[in-house]
Amino acid sequence: MSQDFEAASAEASRLLSDHWRALARQEPPVFPDLSPGSLLSSLPAAAPEEAEPLADLLEDTWNLVVPGLVHWQHPAFLGYYPTNNSPASVLAELVTAGLGVQGMMWATSPAATELEQVVTDWLAKALGLPEGFCHSSGTGGGVIQDSASSAIVVAIAAGLHRVSRGRWRATGLRGCRPLLYCSDQANSCVTKGSRVTGLGEPRIIPRTPGTRQLDPHALEVQIAADRAAGLLPAVVVATVGTTGTCAIDSIEEIGRVCRREDVWLHVDAAYAGSAALCPEFRYVNDGVGLADSYAVNAHKWLRAGNPSDVLWTTDRASLTGALGITPPYLHHPATESTGVVDFRDWQIPLGRPMRALKLWYVIRAHGLRGLRSVIRHDVRMATLFADLVDQEEGFHLEAAALGLVVFRRTTDEATQTLINRLRSDHSILCTPDIVDGRRVVRAAFGSPYTTPESVRRTWETIRSHT
Ligand code: PLP
Repeated sequence: MSQDFEAASAEASRLLSDHWRALARQEPPVFPDLSPGSLLSSLPAAAPEEAEPLADLLEDTWNLVVPGLVHWQHPAFLGYYPTNNSPASVLAELVTAGLGVQGMMWATSPAATELEQVVTDWLAKALGLPEGFCHSSGTGGGVIQDSASSAIVVAIAAGLHRVSRGRWRATGLRGCRPLLYCSDQANSCVTKGSRVTGLGEPRIIPRTPGTRQLDPHALEVQIAADRAAGLLPAVVVATVGTTGTCAIDSIEEIGRVCRREDVWLHVDAAYAGSAALCPEFRYVNDGVGLADSYAVNAHKWLRAGNPSDVLWTTDRASLTGALGITPPYLHHPATESTGVVDFRDWQIPLGRPMRALKLWYVIRAHGLRGLRSVIRHDVRMATLFADLVDQEEGFHLEAAALGLVVFRRTTDEATQTLINRLRSDHSILCTPDIVDGRRVVRAAFGSPYTTPESVRRTWETIRSHT
């Protein structure tokens, strides 16, 4: 079996390297021209009884599965926000899987836990987060989650625990209505997090007039009204880089309101937070010292493959107070010494893979300098594209920030026609959206293979569909 693995993993590396080279040449279409059910009908309905060689599995992957994939690493993949990766990330995933450890607590793999403490501290410092977000502070620290959505659920739990002085965990919050606040630009995962934690629909705070940012004054007024009505303001979620237009909420002003009101502030910086690696973009995090928790998806812009979200808090006692639980089978002298971190108490699931190796490899293989180059390159590519859009008659630039460009045609009908034509083209993928009541197209730049030539080619394709 292990000889079979050696040969097959060498072959997988070769196939992947060829695949990446083909993406760089923009050879395959970004998304397949398939009808639903194509793969369903080409696979057997029941699992094989007999063992099959690993080489056959690889062959079937490339013949049956890869042709049915959307190529998120393709330079003409401009949808959603990027989910990019890198050879270092892929290698780390292979090694992580091979070592197969489960790092739910320090005692179940001490090095997995300590590596995560070190790497999340490294990244906090590199992003310019205050010392209070580091494990080395003794009161805060980072933890790698699978997604920004999970990070929000964890942050809400910590916030509820703190604002209810532990009642949330002990007896639930019967007879009291806790509330979560965000703007209408917050990602849908904020609403989902609010629902799954029993808070129901979030309170939507209006925007500061003329902007797409949450209005801190309106927030303060709403919190006061809710308190006067006997409700419990619990958590505010601010966004650094909204999904629609990459708007940046003012964490500084929102943070001051949250401090005055004793409400937990979580900052969802899933996409744009990574930009803070570069001094010229560090403004995105202004005021972050007033936040209680902050999360970035390293899998969006730091070349760590999905999943890799890093959540930091300055108040680890509230987080572990909310989620900590120790049945007899998890008792361990190391935990009781309280000198160690048990990441099971920092997340919803009990078990967890060794999550830190991927970030450790990615950071070391690129260096912070290399990761800054990634961010700067993508911003340059987006700027080049935005300039092309801006110069073209019949196109309007709705927003351009960091790696995201949002544009439309003069009328909704013309924008929809463009969207329909792009959908049948398959050589580029953009995401349609509605911003301020108008149909728009989002183009987010983040593929490892984007070049000025690929940007110009993408733009010519879009123009050809008008
Ligand atoms: N927050 C923002 C601003 C996003 O843009 C997204 C997804 O693109 C998310 C959260 C959700 O991220 P995840 O898929 O990691 O839950």
